[in-house]
Amino acid sequence: MIETVYVEKKIKEHPRTKFILSKFKKATIIEIDRYGEIFNKRNQNFRIQKKNPDLILAFKNDGYVLSAPEGFGIGSSKNYYFSHMYNCIYDCRYCFLQGMYSSANYVIFVNFEDFDKEIEKVIQDNKDNKTTFFSGYDCDSLALETLTGFAKHITTLFTKYPDVDIEFRTKSVQTEPFASIEPLKNVIVAYSLLPDLMSKALDNKTPSTLKRINAMSHLAAKGWKIGLRFDPLIHGKNWEKLYKDLLDNIYNTIPSHSIHSVSFGPLRFPKEMFKDIFKLYPQTPLFSGPLSQHNGVVSYDLDIEEEMTSFCSNITKNYIDKSQIFKCSA
Ligand code: SF4
Repeated sequence: MIETVYVEKKIKEHPRTKFILSKFKKATIIEIDRYGEIFNKRNQNFRIQKKNPDLILAFKNDGYVLSAPEGFGIGSSKNYYFSHMYNCIYDCRYCFLQGMYSSANYVIFVNFEDFDKEIEKVIQDNKDNKTTFFSGYDCDSLALETLTGFAKHITTLFTKYPDVDIEFRTKSVQTEPFASIEPLKNVIVAYSLLPDLMSKALDNKTPSTLKRINAMSHLAAKGWKIGLRFDPLIHGKNWEKLYKDLLDNIYNTIPSHSIHSVSFGPLRFPKEMFKDIFKLYPQTPLFSGPLSQHNGVVSYDLDIEEEMTSFCSNITKNYIDKSQIFKCSA
């Protein structure tokens, strides 16, 4: 329940601001000059704020589209991402956002048309490259769709560029805007997944793994391309059995022709970010697992990463072509 909504004065009359505010009739509305006054304040406690976050409606001035980090991709030579929102309604214990921002408040940028202009510019600049855009790197791309309408807006833009791919990555079971429109071959609806037992312990506030599989099955039946993102892969007791059951369940539910790609990524945190996240949740069993530090990154030992990735890839190769399997190392 959002109790306070901060609104930048510059966008207080924007139609999207008005629409979003209409959903929070009981909230206290506070006008501000810039979202950073609230979002970047010093001495905020992410863990306490996460229990009762506020909403900030803002205008994004720049940095609409950014190059994806090296090692983040699903086969294109050029990869970009954009985020219409900072932070997430879910609370996954391994989420990098909790180490990235000092605030757990949600920021929604309402000037979608500026994202459009920058995306179209990047597309024009990359006419000779196969390009993929990733929506919602700093949030869940669909979880607040009924409030923002961003996925619907951006999907409409990508109907003009059938050779350019866009991925919406989510842990939600939000199937709109896709369920009610004809499928587009350049749109990938990608689901982040953990075995159910691990998800119950780590994916706080998210729909269950089974519900996510049901949502993707629904969209696959309508003709949408599905991405499967096992990122991060989590090590623990019986991990082989847990992942085998999950993978077999998915591949027996989603027809292989509906699967665009599958990617596996090891659990990993930049060293400084890990320190911040560990301070927030020192008791989490996840952080007492077999983690160590290599080249400024905290992760499992390389042989564990390799073993888990190979194990899951080998099962996956029984169902889809190996050219559709990717390792995410960003
Ligand atoms: S769904 Fe993704 S963005 Fe949201 S808390 Fe979980 S890991 Fe973070």
